[in-house]
Parts: sequence; C-alpha cells; structure tokens
Amino acid sequence: MNKYDLIIIGAGPSGIFLSYELIKLGSSKKILMIEQGKKVEDRFCPIEKTGKCMKCKPLCHITNGFSGAGAFSDGKLSLYNPEDTEIHVGGNLHEYLGIEETKKLIDYTDNIYLEYGADPKVEGVEFKEEVSSIKEKAKKYNVTLFDVPVRHLGTEKAHELYGRLQNFLLEHGVEIHFETVVADLIVDNNVIKGVKTKPSKYVEDDEFTNLEEVYGDNVVIGVGRKGANWLSNMCAKHNINSRSGIVDIGVRYELPDKYMADVNKYMYEAKFVARPAPYYDKVRTFCQNPSGFVSTEVYDKNITLANGHSYKDRKSTNTNLALLVSHNFTYPFNEPIKYGRNVAENSNQLGNGNVLVQRLGDILNGRRTWEKDLETNSVIPTQKSAVAGDITYALGYRTMTNILEFIKMLENVIPGFAHPDNLLYSPEIKFYSNQVRINQEFETSIKNLYCIGDGGGLTRGLMMASCSGVHLARILK
Ligand SMILES: Cc1cc2nc3c(=O)[nH]c(=O)nc-3n(C[C@H](O)[C@H](O)[C@H](O)COP(=O)(O)OP(=O)(O)OC[C@H]3O[C@@H](n4cnc5c(N)ncnc54)[C@H](O)[C@@H]3O)c2cc1C
Repeated sequence: MNKYDLIIIGAGPSGIFLSYELIKLGSSKKILMIEQGKKVEDRFCPIEKTGKCMKCKPLCHITNGFSGAGAFSDGKLSLYNPEDTEIHVGGNLHEYLGIEETKKLIDYTDNIYLEYGADPKVEGVEFKEEVSSIKEKAKKYNVTLFDVPVRHLGTEKAHELYGRLQNFLLEHGVEIHFETVVADLIVDNNVIKGVKTKPSKYVEDDEFTNLEEVYGDNVVIGVGRKGANWLSNMCAKHNINSRSGIVDIGVRYELPDKYMADVNKYMYEAKFVARPAPYYDKVRTFCQNPSGFVSTEVYDKNITLANGHSYKDRKSTNTNLALLVSHNFTYPFNEPIKYGRNVAENSNQLGNGNVLVQRLGDILNGRRTWEKDLETNSVIPTQKSAVAGDITYALGYRTMTNILEFIKMLENVIPGFAHPDNLLYSPEIKFYSNQVRINQEFETSIKNLYCIGDGGGLTRGLMMASCSGVHLARILK
C-alpha cells in the first residue's frame, strides 16, 4: 500500500513552500506532492510561437504544473511598509497570525525568494512624496490608494527561480507525481485517510473509475484558484465546513504606458479601490503590469479568461491591469463560482471561444468594436487571440456600470485613463472557492486535512500563498 506521512495536493507556491520549510526544519516526513500539470521545465505556453491561445490539452500550462499559477505570473511579490498597521493585499493570513507575525513571515519568505534568485530591488519605496501626492489626489475623488512595495521577479525569471526550488525538493527526497489529478479524498469517520488519483489525460472524464488510492496521515489541499471548483465539490461531498465566498468579475484593461508613467515609476503596482455610485460595490485595480502583455488562462471545460504579466527584459509599450468588481450573493441564489462561470461562458461564446476585446470609446458610444477598428487604434492589443466584439452583451449591467464609473473616477487621478482608445478584455475572473473553514492551525473540519494558499480562500497572491505554506510547515513539523 502506498502510504505517506504527508500528501500535498498541488505544487503551487503554497505547497512548494510547505515542503521547502519542512526540509529546512529537518523533518524526516515522507512527503508526496501530487500535481496535475507538468514539471516546470516542461511548461510552455505556445502563444509565444503561435500568437494565439491553443487551448492546450489536457491542461493549460499557464495555471498548472510545478509552481502553479506562479510560473507564468508576473512574479510580483507584495511586501509591506514597516509603518503599515494593516495588511492590505494578499488575503486573510493576518487574521490567523496577527499583523506583526505576518510581517515577520513575509520577511522570512522574501529571503528565500532572494536566496533563489529574486531581484534585490524593491519597487515602490523610493518616491514616498510623489506617492503621497497621488494618494491625496485620489482621496479627493473618493478613491483609496494602497501603496504596497513589490519585488518584481518577471515572468521568465519566476520560471527559473521555481525551477531551482523544484530541484531542491527533488534532491531532498520529496516525491512529486506529475500529470496526476487528485479526483477525490478518502475520508473515514471525519478523518482524512488519503486521496484517489487518476492520470491527467482523464482530467475531464468524470466517469473514469480506475482511480488509484494513496494513503497519508496528513493531507494538505493547495490547489489554487484553478482547483476552486473541484474544492467546492469536495466540500459538498465530504461535508467539509465552508461558507459561500465572493467572485471577482471584471476586465483586463490595457492602455499606453505614457498615461501610467508616474504610477509605474513611483509604485510599479498601485492598488486603487473605490465604491462607485449607484451600487457602492467594491471595485479595485489588481495585478498591474507596466510595459506588459495581456495573457489568457484556460480553465476546465475550456473557460478562457484574461490575465496579464510582464517580463524583466521583453517590453511592450502598454500597461495592463485588472479592474475587478466583488460580487456577493445572498438569497435565493448564492453560488458565486457558478455565476462567474456563466459570465465566462457567455463572454467566451461571443468571442468564439476566446476572450473579447473592445475599445472604451465604442462601449460608451453603444457600438461593438471590429477587427479593422483595432488596426488603426492608437492602442494596439498585446493579446492576439482576443476577438473584437461587444463585452456589454456578456457582463451584467451592474458589473459594467461599476467598471465604467470606476474608470471615470480614475481619470481624475490618472489623466488618459479614460481615453476612448483604451482596451477592455473580457472576462477577467478571480474564482475563490467557497471559503473553507479552518482553525488557527489551518486544519479543516476534517481531522488531519489542511487547506492553504488561494484555493480555499485563505490567500490571494504569490507571497501570501508561499507564506501560508511556510507557516503550516512550522505546525506540522
Ligand atoms: C498570469 C498570472 C499572473 C499573476 N501575477 C501575479 C503577481 O504578479 N503577483 C501575485 O502575487 N500573484 C500573481 N498571480 C497569482 C498567483 O500566481 C497565485 O496567487 C499563486 O500562484 C497561488 O498559489 P497557490 O499555491 O495557492 O495555487 P496555484 O499557484 O494556483 O497552484 C495550485 C496547483 O494545484 C494544482 N491542482 C489543482 N487542482 C488539482 C488537483 N485536483 N489535483 C492535482 N493538482 C491540482 C494546479 O495544477 C496548480 O499547479 C498571477 C496569476 C496568473 C495566472
């Protein structure tokens, strides 16, 4: 019988840093990581060559494989300002650890990233006065600016860095089963006993019955947003305590670097948040990529979403960032993931299976964008798979209104932000699973079953997902 001390589902940053820290702490645990994607060196997004998304089968390389969504991410590690009394980005880890402990954990984890090759330069700490003046200006228009220092790995460097971590884990005896999907959990009397797996080529085959059983004393779920849907199903099937979460729905926005020059220079990434009338929902900017490229990521059932990243060396002349609206539901419908998937399916249908792109000016003038409009547009799309069309057919009135009002608000802070040639790509969606209820030790309501990283709603981002792994290692050692 295959039996391990610890089984980790998913080899994203949360799972990697869990294994890494256990080794550093001298643990002799027999560890198995199960990852549905490939080794980091075998991950390759064909869009670089083909110019368009090829919908890789069985799984998209952007979000699956060693280092999870981190491999092709922009690699911005969100840090903190020493004077901060709140942790503004990255999820809820501080609610379990407290602010000061979280800061210490960020420092510790950041040092590991540095040791493995991250750029020593931290963006967003040099220009305090300039940042303050943008903050003041934003405040006048009811927009809050959170300036969070970031260490930028860059997409290509992130790949190399995680490659070095992969080698470290393998050299230290961590077993990693690649291209293997965890299809189910084995739970007996409210205690986790192990997992059931199948080869990744059958990932979409729900009828596949020849599942392999693997046993473990402890099982950790680190499946990221990619695994949010699966995790919600597991919660329902095995009575894992969880509560309905939120879904963030919006667009990826692309505009010339020249409008964003100050923000890019002073902060690299700015986090603007507002609650535009008439709904007063929370709308925010997220994942800003100066001189970057809009990317796509393919989820199960071919759902294709917009995202963005930037390289250290290869540059475009556009900045892209997400504009996201938080969606909460109550009664009688409270299924945020289902809602988000419906929006994505609608949008993809209108784009012939791809993300849609539309000019802001066309939206405001009530017309769709055509391919030929983009040829002469002053902002040239960096995502070549995107199909010109009408995103207002796909996004709800409330979502769309929130986004347009937010753009107007930001125009006051960043002149040019509402230029009619700027581009909106739809949809960008951040699926968070149902929030899995965990105790102070990250244990779920099932004994010895733990949940870390983005998947169960604990974190949102590379640094915090990594930190959650480090922290759990200290508990499980
Ligand atoms: C294009 C892009 C750019 C981004 N840029 C940034 C950025 O600049 N800064 C930032 O902080 N964050 C960024 N992010 C988000 C960041 O990558 C995630 O927050 C982070 O990777 C979460 O780590 P995780 O370990 O929780 O999950 P993930 O990294 O998502 O890893 C989960 C892993 O689990 C595997 N898995 C899922 N289900 C199963 C299953 N059933 N069986 C086996 N394996 C499974 C998946 O294949 C995946 O490899 C970006 C994401 C993308 C896609």
